[in-house]
Amino acid sequence: MNAPASLAFQVIPSEHARSAEQRDAILASELGFGKHFTDHMVAIQWNKAQGWHAAKVCAYGPLSLDPAASVLHYGQEIFEGIKAYRHADGSIWTFRPEANGARLQRSAARLALPQLPVAEFTESLRQLVAIDHAWVPSAPESSLYFRPFMIATEAFLGVRAAQAAGYYVIASPAGAYFAKGVAPVSIWLSEDFARAAKGGTGAAKCGGNYAASLLPQQEAYAQGCSQVLFLDPVEGKYLEELGGMNVFLVYKDGRIVTPELSGSILEGITRSSILQLARDRGLKVEERKVSIDEWKTGVASGEITEVFACGTAAVVTPIGELKGKDFAVGDINAPAGEVTMSLRQELTDIQYGRLPDRHGWLVRL
Ligand code: PMP
Repeated sequence: MNAPASLAFQVIPSEHARSAEQRDAILASELGFGKHFTDHMVAIQWNKAQGWHAAKVCAYGPLSLDPAASVLHYGQEIFEGIKAYRHADGSIWTFRPEANGARLQRSAARLALPQLPVAEFTESLRQLVAIDHAWVPSAPESSLYFRPFMIATEAFLGVRAAQAAGYYVIASPAGAYFAKGVAPVSIWLSEDFARAAKGGTGAAKCGGNYAASLLPQQEAYAQGCSQVLFLDPVEGKYLEELGGMNVFLVYKDGRIVTPELSGSILEGITRSSILQLARDRGLKVEERKVSIDEWKTGVASGEITEVFACGTAAVVTPIGELKGKDFAVGDINAPAGEVTMSLRQELTDIQYGRLPDRHGWLVRL
């Protein structure tokens, strides 16, 4: 059992919070993703001598960092992504925060950062919602996206784990990811670049992984694709994941297959939830190595009937087409698959309180 939250948060309300009219105008606008931020943020400090301390909720605004802070030089940084959902009765809930809190701890361990207790992680979300609850949108499929992150703040240029760090949470109201209805996307196979290495940081949610994915992501855009598919960094043969989502294949015989956790894949909370929902349906679920050839030949022969990606931001996204330097498989104009869409529906119905939460995944904020 995790220890209960025990940090005392000092709450310092913002002196320049937006008015209710300004806020509602933002919430009524095309929200997109990650563009607008609420009036407050959470900040908790850590150092070797005092541990976690100085927890506060304060005005959203610039951080003051020493130019020698190690995050700026060696990229000692980790983050999370998790949402709050407004239910029809107005109540606000989040989804499996203990899973995100535990993943933040695993990321911290790999990046030699301090581990925030899981209860403090959940409490930090609760503290922010307590003051900024009016920023949780209520339009269909909208949410408040939390971005918890931790940075090494010690002013020291030696290359070793910092002895001071800061943990912060900011929040951004997010609109429906597919405002015009869920539409299949094209994916670009990155053949020249990997996002992770054997023994590297692929399983951690650290900024450096995303820095390494930006160039291949640009390549994808240039090819008219919206995301990159990365292969395993050792043999360059097996599927790993997309730049920001895990991937699933649906077979004609009813099997649902996803790449096993290789040590270089991020263990998605959505991935694990989809696996559970598929098992609940009695579907045969496989977590194993999947070669890129299996994808290509399976889609071509019709043995693979659907492919989809999943993650907190877009929930479940049908993949219509996979393109590489000298091939393309799939049909971007084909409608989204049935299994894909019904898993998406079931998961969002649970998140928005439209279906019973049979696994106890929701936590009220
Ligand atoms: N893989 C990567 C690289 C990601 O950035 C994300 C988003 N956090 C995911 C997978 C999906 O994880 P989750 O379902 O927890 O959002």
